[in-house]
Amino acid sequence: MKIKAVLKYLETIAPPIYQESYDNAGLIIGDASETVTGVICCLDSTEPVVDEAIAKKCNLIIAHHPIVFKGLKRFNGKNYIERVVMKAIRNDIAIYAIHTNLDNMLYQGVNTRIAERLELKNTQILAPKKNFKKLFAFGSEQILNQLRNELFELGAGVIQGQQHLSYASVGAGTANGKGEGKVKLELLFPTALNGGVNSVLNKYAIEGSINYDVIAVENTNTLIGSGMIGELTKPMTEKSFLKFLKNKMQVNCVKHTDLRGKHISKVAFCGGAGGFLLKNAIRQQADVFITADYKYHEFFDADGRIIIADIGHYESEQFTINLLHEVLTQKFSNFAAHCTEVNTNPVSYYF
Ligand SMILES: [Zn+2]
Repeated sequence: MKIKAVLKYLETIAPPIYQESYDNAGLIIGDASETVTGVICCLDSTEPVVDEAIAKKCNLIIAHHPIVFKGLKRFNGKNYIERVVMKAIRNDIAIYAIHTNLDNMLYQGVNTRIAERLELKNTQILAPKKNFKKLFAFGSEQILNQLRNELFELGAGVIQGQQHLSYASVGAGTANGKGEGKVKLELLFPTALNGGVNSVLNKYAIEGSINYDVIAVENTNTLIGSGMIGELTKPMTEKSFLKFLKNKMQVNCVKHTDLRGKHISKVAFCGGAGGFLLKNAIRQQADVFITADYKYHEFFDADGRIIIADIGHYESEQFTINLLHEVLTQKFSNFAAHCTEVNTNPVSYYF
């Protein structure tokens, strides 16, 4: 099995086109045409994780966070990023990051795991993405089959967990008052694919083999977006909820704003640095917003309207490692996938 086959599968779970603009998810280091010898799943592909991959004879690291975010200009081992890149290349180890594209998924995403840990029901995306377009193309069945395949190759017709989605119907059109049988093809694609999709459509349109319309989709796609909101099976007092949160998320401590003397039933959350979603959490009347990386002044923004609970970045995302491991082991049996044994949390607590 080639590395590219594994990555192709992961990209059906979390298509890279759904990563945020600042992100660098994808194959960062390595040759996707190599055969997989084993996989290490982790949050951070640090040097000890690369060492672990070498020791376990695994040539693929699937990390949540990209080890490289910005351009690197020198490779002389002066910082941990350069050392990881150099060591991985020297040892033929590929590093793939599945980051904000995995954050943005309703099913099998980073927040899905948090929802499961907290036993939440009626979970939804907190800030759904609204960047989809729909194509309607008209032509002969044969031409539309070709067109469909070309668009699928680009990544159109992919909704989380399902790919190659389209709909076709046979109908009767008229041209110059004369009726003629035509097939209509419909498929959805993310706005990020606009350029590629349009050049394919133009090619067919110039040949005169299709007519088409591309329209913006106004309904928010509830499968993709940032953060999540859900309900507890039973309301809890604030103190018992904080205890529950600490136990379920296996954290040493929870940093939180003033309690409000109300029961907790609606819970908004976002693994990692989700502070930008506070307004969404308040607007949707969450009783608590769980995330990480809050700064001192940002805690004031709770302003008695919600409880902000910061559980730590690593802690909020730690179960993503198991998620990646499960996704791979359920699909592939011809190589070993391991959860890293390295705790890559750069933050420690002294009690
Ligand atoms: Zn993170």
